Amino acid sequence: MKQKMNIRYLFIAVLLTGIHIQASSREGNEPDNKPAVVSVGKKAKPPSDAVVLFDKGSLEHFTGVNDNEPPQWKVNGKHFTVVPGTGNIHTREHYGDIQLHIEFKIPKDAETREGQESGNSGIYIMGKYEIQVLNSYEKTTDYNRQAGSVYNQYAPMVNACLEPGKWQAYDIVFDAPEYDESGTLVKPPYFTVFHNGVLIQNHVEVKGPTVAFNENLPENAQEGPLMLQDHDNKVSFRNIWIRKL
Ligand code: MG
Repeated sequence: MKQKMNIRYLFIAVLLTGIHIQASSREGNEPDNKPAVVSVGKKAKPPSDAVVLFDKGSLEHFTGVNDNEPPQWKVNGKHFTVVPGTGNIHTREHYGDIQLHIEFKIPKDAETREGQESGNSGIYIMGKYEIQVLNSYEKTTDYNRQAGSVYNQYAPMVNACLEPGKWQAYDIVFDAPEYDESGTLVKPPYFTVFHNGVLIQNHVEVKGPTVAFNENLPENAQEGPLMLQDHDNKVSFRNIWIRKL
């Protein structure tokens, strides 16, 4: 089992590396192109150059809705859970191009709820672009609003959901938008997403902020916080790490 997991994450790492090569100008043999050596994590453990945003105990990397307030979500050892009504949480630090690993668990009561009320949360990159968290295991909603969608923009390529109560993972690659000096968009953002190791978004062009984004952030920002959504459902999270690209 252990070896199976290792192979799976090695496979993801190889795929992610390949995509990055295609998406940027790493052609040729210039000194700048020398790939840095990193030690690869075991299972979903972070590689050596990742920033761990949560592994246990403390939400110190996050704030509540207001920057000065600590999050009111409930930490329970190696995971934490949305406390409905307390609002979204976001990282203190802002990020542009990133690779993100995040694990989540939909509560069992999602089985008795329907549509957008069944285990809803969300991973907002730059506080603006949501990869939907939802119970889409044997449940139907709008395809471009189901689990793994770029919310209201792109349905996932396949449905790789596990049932509520099981831990699942998103591995997300995000290319941040770029603006010129006049504030005009010169490069749109792109998402590549793996759900439980399966490719579900392949370098899709993001058509602007998704619904319910953090409107306090500047319109033309090229960096923003990682934001997790309080959608009144007790979704849990664990093992969150991020790499700046
Ligand atoms: Mg959501």
